[in-house]
Amino acid sequence: MLEKIRAALDLIYPRNCQFCTVPLLEQERGVICTSCLGMVKRIEPPFCRRCSLPFAGQFDDQIECGYCQELKFHFSLAIAACRAEGVVRDCIHRLKYKREMYYLKHLASWLIGAGRVRVNWQEVDAIVPVPLHSVKKREREFNQAELLARQLSREFGKPIITNAVRRIKETQTQTKLDAHARRANLRDAFAAGGQPVTGLRLVLVDDVFTTGATLDSCANLLRNQGAVDVLAMTVARGI
Ligand SMILES: [Zn+2]
Ligand SMILES: [Zn+2]
Repeated sequence: MLEKIRAALDLIYPRNCQFCTVPLLEQERGVICTSCLGMVKRIEPPFCRRCSLPFAGQFDDQIECGYCQELKFHFSLAIAACRAEGVVRDCIHRLKYKREMYYLKHLASWLIGAGRVRVNWQEVDAIVPVPLHSVKKREREFNQAELLARQLSREFGKPIITNAVRRIKETQTQTKLDAHARRANLRDAFAAGGQPVTGLRLVLVDDVFTTGATLDSCANLLRNQGAVDVLAMTVARGI
């Protein structure tokens, strides 16, 4: 009987590393082995003080990168935990497009790790996930940003606000667009959702920072709705 339960559980929750297929040890929580986890590239200083873009070589991290100087983002800071490569990028894709929900645990642990080091939670009032368009949410059945935001909320004891902002424009896949085109594409993609954010200091959560256009557009709306600060957090950052 126990064997059967175990076998059934393994179907839902694999006991082999999902990247290199070695059997996972009892103490290895999640679905990735310690060795594959070791290949995850964290974003470490020196990096742009506003958008966390890593700099090669020796810089002090009081510098803003060229992008930030040019684009003038509406978030005060964007924190990313890892580079959007290899294991991290695959985890995000498998969660989003294959609905393999057990990757959430790993993604959340990287995000929480960055949150512990880089965010002063006493200066945060609430957490806001970047919304999906309702059509896309219906297709996917979940919003990965909201799942991540809930994990942060539980870890750091801050409320989550899911109806301050709505996505009103279904944006086409943006991977082929440059930063300026993405910003144009995302203009007016969000609208106020009803819940007030006046005077609040917010942490805005998404899975990936690519050019920052989505987070910027959403932060702009929240600031226009009266939020006094918007700090963006993502699991991964395209470099
Ligand atoms: Zn492995
Ligand atoms: Zn920057």
